[in-house]
Amino acid sequence: MKLVFATHNLNKYKEVKALMPKHIELVSLTDIGCFDDIPETEPTIEGNAKLKAMYVRDHYNLNCFADDTGLEVDALHGAPGVYSARYAGPQNDSEANMNKLLMHLENSVDRSAHFKTVIALSLDDGEELFTGICEGIILMGKQGEEGFGYDPIFQPNGYSQSFAEMNQKEKGLISHRGRAIAKLIAFLSEKE
Ligand code: IMP
Repeated sequence: MKLVFATHNLNKYKEVKALMPKHIELVSLTDIGCFDDIPETEPTIEGNAKLKAMYVRDHYNLNCFADDTGLEVDALHGAPGVYSARYAGPQNDSEANMNKLLMHLENSVDRSAHFKTVIALSLDDGEELFTGICEGIILMGKQGEEGFGYDPIFQPNGYSQSFAEMNQKEKGLISHRGRAIAKLIAFLSEKE
């Protein structure tokens, strides 16, 4: 079965492609000739994942899935959430985003937070959602060089390192995205 992963992020695409069951022919947006800036205008993580999947379904009439992720901080009532990429402005600058978050939590004792990934799968006439959560805390400062986004300031519960101090494999086993992808793969494996 041909399945489009609706992302322009080549690293994400390659990572997921390596995990797909054999009967799934995963193709990228480039493979189907889609170079559009797919809209992410919904106010929720679920809404954006669905919107991106529906975009490909509507424009290309192909089975596909899309993911959307946000960091939800308890003391900030779930912010930055769906706006995680653009927290400090439209330029999607991870350093600026982390600095803004650390500043907002400067006087906060409650450092609890979680990453949430939602994958929306549009398959034939149906739609499925798969959610992966990783609970943790926001550190007082940046630690580590690996990963991307908020990784240097996020420490998953049960670990003494930040995500940026783990290698990709370690992080993938416990991360929000890893968990959501595992659910998607389990679902697709049943469909063979
Ligand atoms: P996206 O929906 O996967 O593009 O994620 C939106 C934003 O959330 C990214 O631009 C990052 O700032 C942040 N983010 C997503 N996943 C991670 C992660 O695994 N570690 C750190 N930050 C992340």
